[in-house]
Amino acid sequence: MRGEEPVVIEALKVRALPEGSCDRLLEFLILYRDAVQMVVDRVWSLDTKLSKKKLHRLFYSDLMSMGFRAHHAKEVYMYAKSLVESARGNGGRKPVLRRLSARVDRYDYRLDLDSMTLTLKLHSGYEARLKLVTSRERVERFRGWSNYELVVKYDKGEFWVSIYFRRAVKPLKPRTVMAIDLNFDNVTLAIFALSGRLLKLKRFKTPHRRILTHRIWIERIQERYPRSWRFIKGVRRAIERHGKRIRSISWDYAHKLGDLVAELALKYCSLIVLEDLEKLKENGKGDREFNKRLGLWFYRRIQFCVEYEAKERNLEVVKINPRGTSSKCPGCGGKLVEDGHRVLRCRKCGFTGDRDVIATVNLYRRYVFKYSRCGVPGVAPNAPEPDEAPSGVRGNGYEVMKTTSSYMNLYES
Ligand SMILES: [Zn+2]
Repeated sequence: MRGEEPVVIEALKVRALPEGSCDRLLEFLILYRDAVQMVVDRVWSLDTKLSKKKLHRLFYSDLMSMGFRAHHAKEVYMYAKSLVESARGNGGRKPVLRRLSARVDRYDYRLDLDSMTLTLKLHSGYEARLKLVTSRERVERFRGWSNYELVVKYDKGEFWVSIYFRRAVKPLKPRTVMAIDLNFDNVTLAIFALSGRLLKLKRFKTPHRRILTHRIWIERIQERYPRSWRFIKGVRRAIERHGKRIRSISWDYAHKLGDLVAELALKYCSLIVLEDLEKLKENGKGDREFNKRLGLWFYRRIQFCVEYEAKERNLEVVKINPRGTSSKCPGCGGKLVEDGHRVLRCRKCGFTGDRDVIATVNLYRRYVFKYSRCGVPGVAPNAPEPDEAPSGVRGNGYEVMKTTSSYMNLYES
């Protein structure tokens, strides 16, 4: 058995232009589809589960005599088997294939990243050379990865290929932990040493209010034309315009933030702790109205980008249930009450601090609590006991909590 090493799989999906005539390639795709259908028909009528060995015995020589190569044959019967199984699994009818697409094993194609060309080995010894229609950058990303399978498709007069790449990831051994709290106005990020000392605190303003303004415009228009807005061109256009702004503001922000956060995490060699948004749904933060208006989808988008950028840099990401992270005292576990704008105070021990910073401290501690014992994701060997305050925020003053960290505005408009 192979090791437990985590693997990242990504597909490069691009249009491909055949060099010269595409007749043989089309012929191959038709032959392939018919062969899959032939196997589907026969397996369907057998009505038993077939092992790979049995499939091989039943179909290999037939497929070879149709002109396929050995690995083509394997792909054909395995693909047919998966089609039959999924159709049976959901009580469907016998699959009938219409589209022209073929899965090709890596032994049956050659990919040249330098010239961005793909050579497919077809039936009866034919070959087809295709030029990948894409930017060099998109292809360059996959240098050093191993490619293993591809799907070639013919759709509305165009050829498309999805080449699957795989890369083993060896997560960097974290030296610090970065906890990120998301809320309406800001994203707060705190980096802790494994000893629990706070190393860095940063806050980013979110564009939530700008998004909300567009959202309110849309709602106003829809209220004004409750039934007809879908059908009046001008009205629909106005709504689309606001929707488009919302999309571009949110993606733009999420990409920039994801990149910034991951760069910082790389610099500090951090394991990143995010709030588990699935758990958040059950919290007050995720009530229905909030959800609908702007809530979770935007957090998800931000997290998606943070995670994506982090994985690109071999950094580990862990999600933690955020329940109560902004209502419990990081010092004594007592209940926190509001004490002025965004400031929370503990009734039991008198501790006061900035609400977002408290949330990151609690997230960090919850991570330590969850993982310090069982020794999974990037253990913090000398992490503080869960009931002990992180040393950076210990003492009467909790000085770090009070510092108003510099706001960084990603939006200069
Ligand atoms: Zn307290």
